[in-house]
Amino acid sequence: MNFLDTEQGFPVFFIVWIALAIGSGLFFWLNRNAELKRKVLPPFLMVSGALFIGFIWVSGTPTNFLYIAIPIVALITVLNIRSIKFCDACGSTLHSQNPFSPAKFCSKCGAELQ
Ligand SMILES: [Zn+2]
Repeated sequence: MNFLDTEQGFPVFFIVWIALAIGSGLFFWLNRNAELKRKVLPPFLMVSGALFIGFIWVSGTPTNFLYIAIPIVALITVLNIRSIKFCDACGSTLHSQNPFSPAKFCSKCGAELQ
């Protein structure tokens, strides 16, 4: 399947991806509503992962590559959901460097995290 050849597909992907990165960056780093961010993060990361897989698919990449890419993108999505925390006290977005040991306290204000 090749809806977009790589010459057309890459600029479309690049523009959408940059817009998504800027929009999500502004939302997650500037917004102080931890509860809202906690609700938005999982669906946002899942849609982003699906979009990434979609771009790989429409760019004409061999289907066999998708059998490798889909589990990797799913794993990265799960690890990101586990490692990104939001502080109820100050509203900060905290991204732990170790997804297997999420932060227990806010690095900005020291409050205990959920
Ligand atoms: Zn905090």
